[in-house]
Amino acid sequence: MKFKSLVLATALVSACGDTASQESVANSDKMTDNSIAILQYHHVAEDTPAVTSIAPERFEEHLKYLKDNNFVVLPIEEAHQRIESGESFPAKAVVITFDDGYDNVYDNAAPLLKQYDMPYAVFVNPDLMQQSPSAYMSWEQLRTIQEQGATIVNHGQTHAHLIRRKDGESETEWRERMSYDVLSAQQAIDEKLGPQPKYFAYPFGEYDADLQALLDEWGFLGFAQHSGPWSPYSDPTAITRFPASGIYANLKTLAPKLNSLAMPVAEYSPQEPLLEHQQTRPELTVTLSSVSTLQKHALQCYQGSHVLKPEWLSERVFSVTPSADLAIGRSRINCTAPNKTGQAYYWFSAAFIRPDSNGSWPD
Ligand SMILES: [Zn+2]
Repeated sequence: MKFKSLVLATALVSACGDTASQESVANSDKMTDNSIAILQYHHVAEDTPAVTSIAPERFEEHLKYLKDNNFVVLPIEEAHQRIESGESFPAKAVVITFDDGYDNVYDNAAPLLKQYDMPYAVFVNPDLMQQSPSAYMSWEQLRTIQEQGATIVNHGQTHAHLIRRKDGESETEWRERMSYDVLSAQQAIDEKLGPQPKYFAYPFGEYDADLQALLDEWGFLGFAQHSGPWSPYSDPTAITRFPASGIYANLKTLAPKLNSLAMPVAEYSPQEPLLEHQQTRPELTVTLSSVSTLQKHALQCYQGSHVLKPEWLSERVFSVTPSADLAIGRSRINCTAPNKTGQAYYWFSAAFIRPDSNGSWPD
């Protein structure tokens, strides 16, 4: 079921109301402050693909920025627990995650994180660790960083494009493939490292409603790769993270994301990211629970470098349409609006995957 946390979010909203009274504004502020940015890294090295890498010196700049600006780095389980219970976050809080479990994280990031005394989570692929031991951390290395405060979680056995059906694959076969990738990977992690939280980071950030339903059935949270803070408004199987590698490693553009607030989204459509090939410009419609704390007129959406002007259809509903055909593969529409003081941005992102005419797309 989507929006499991919506019950909580709705309860908070109805407690907050949506009138212009001082009290409701204060309550709404407090409610939407219940947002935490999750940073997503892959490689921490100089000699790996630029788009998924950050140089070790640059990575240390990030940690120093967090420390100098009084950010509290929370373990991912604690952030989860606070979201579930409705407990607010410290004014400046962040979660650090790494996908893939590359050996350069052990060599270049773990010592710095230990030095700065910051917890983090690493999403690993047990099958790939076995196939290419030189590229990935070993179980022994994972145990070492676990003792230093890392949480080791699930990125699937094979890092495959899970939602891309194979030729002639039946629903039962697909489900078995998902079970292998998700459940057997969790079993491997739990056997090697002791029971770990059931958190799954989608390979390539790709998910569809069918895979979300399976994760929900199996009791997993699903972590994606489109941007936005984690909050009670998040879909528990489409939790957003901010990429912090490649062009996104720039602290000037990363800093506002660290302070961003979750846009109070009650529902949006299309919620299914996997489009038909013919869906070149899907209209995104977003219903907010409350608009009392954001500057509605300053709402803006982005499709890559294109700035899109959203249209308010009613008090709490806006829609926006891409101004160019979505490229084949993964894309996003991000929408932001300043809060009343203009000191922070509400953030929402919708993910899309547009296949080619053969139902495929690039890595
Ligand atoms: Zn990955």
